[in-house]
Amino acid sequence: MSTKKHQMIVIGAGPGGYVAAIRAAQLGMDVAVIDKNKVLGGTCLRIGCIPSKALLESSEKYEEIQKHISVHGIDVKGVSLDLEKMLKRKDKVTQGLTKGIEALFKKNKITRYQGEAKFTKDKTVVVESGGVKVEELEAEHIIIATGSRPATISGVELDAEGVDTSTDALSYNEVPKQLAVIGAGYIGIELGSVWRRLGAEVTVVEYLDRILPGIDGEVAKEAQKLLTKQGLKFELRSRVQGTKIEKGKVIIERRNGDPIEADRVLVAVGRAPYALNLGLENIGVKRDDRGWVIVDDDYKTSVEGVYAIGDVIPGPMLAHKAEEEGVACVEKIVTGFGHVNYAAIPAVVYTHPEIAAVGKTEDELKDKAIEYRKGKFPFIANGRAKAIEYAEGFVKILAHAKTDRVLGVHIIGPHAGDLIAECAAAMEFGASSEDIARTCHAHPTLSEAVKEAALATEDRAIHM
Ligand code: NAD
Repeated sequence: MSTKKHQMIVIGAGPGGYVAAIRAAQLGMDVAVIDKNKVLGGTCLRIGCIPSKALLESSEKYEEIQKHISVHGIDVKGVSLDLEKMLKRKDKVTQGLTKGIEALFKKNKITRYQGEAKFTKDKTVVVESGGVKVEELEAEHIIIATGSRPATISGVELDAEGVDTSTDALSYNEVPKQLAVIGAGYIGIELGSVWRRLGAEVTVVEYLDRILPGIDGEVAKEAQKLLTKQGLKFELRSRVQGTKIEKGKVIIERRNGDPIEADRVLVAVGRAPYALNLGLENIGVKRDDRGWVIVDDDYKTSVEGVYAIGDVIPGPMLAHKAEEEGVACVEKIVTGFGHVNYAAIPAVVYTHPEIAAVGKTEDELKDKAIEYRKGKFPFIANGRAKAIEYAEGFVKILAHAKTDRVLGVHIIGPHAGDLIAECAAAMEFGASSEDIARTCHAHPTLSEAVKEAALATEDRAIHM
């Protein structure tokens, strides 16, 4: 078998890997991508961000029509759920987007290999299928973008009967009567919301005394209040120690509190870097004691010519962070310059209402004794939010007490995930809260709540 040569090999076709490959091709490189899956797009497109957002949208419509549409003077009777159709639509959305990546690969003349990649020696990767070597590839630059996989806790065996990962919870063929979720993080809250809206009784069991660790405390508190009102049950300060099956039910055992019984259990306690069977030990790529590939500021691993980006390296496990790193890594290789501003990476939780954040939380500023001013504006005082009957939550802007530079923005409310883009751009350009306040925002839009929160940092919001 002759060795095929490329200038760059990217291992993994998720958002980090496929974006890195396209950027490298744009910059004139001959690029190859290896992915073991037939379908491109990685966790995000196949079994993560996109299918979950498709189900969040469908389930939100179902709930809105059942419970909230009558306020508009629209009476709908006989609403019923066709779960099979809902799941098929989700699959169709995903398939369309993954086909889109295939087209982008063709357009950019990226060579694709399907199979498991394994480093055998310096600058050499073999592609295996079913344990059999099908290709041998060589490149000057090799980027590891293999992502992450669901993690679990001791005593809870993933894929045991009734114990599910987020992948399983995207395709339940019937609505579980009782669904217990372990972990009140991103996945637990999003998928818990989906199945509650579709009719499940959902209990979220969380080790900490709060939901959504990492999200601003005041926002998380408001989220808990609103999600509880919607019917999600939270069992906080509950450390899960194991699960067992009894009479066809899954029993969750916890250190402090009675056992919890459910038909299904979704384990959402975080994700772990995925670098198994990559042959990293064959060439000496170093990982830390938690399994993350160690890289420097240029995404270089301990081996020359081998780089890593995305969930397989430390940092927030977010598709858009992986994309930014993919682009920066390639640009650094080809042009010598590339950048990711880790202080301005937005995060969004796609609940109803959405939760979005960029920059420092209020808790972090307090911990670091950074003096700040806070401006908060509720959506109840925003004309558009009232008009669309969606006036929950608020925008909170945190600005430096002396320089007025925006240090963080935290939003819970309608379309928070879109509103945060303006705030991330403002932070990227080093804006002050006055810069946001002096920017003309169209009326009537939800974005006026961002402007008002900026005004509120100086106690001069107009509509409050
Ligand atoms: P997470 O880290 O967001 O939350 C895990 C939760 O499980 C934490 O609250 C933790 O305290 C809790 N937990 C851990 N051990 C426990 C125990 N023994 N008993 C009870 N609770 C326990 O993880 P996730 O929700 O699984 O999501 C995984 C990753 O995927 C996250 O890092 C997130 O960034 C990413 N993700 C992002 C989005 C998005 O951007 N909207 C959506 C889904 C997932």
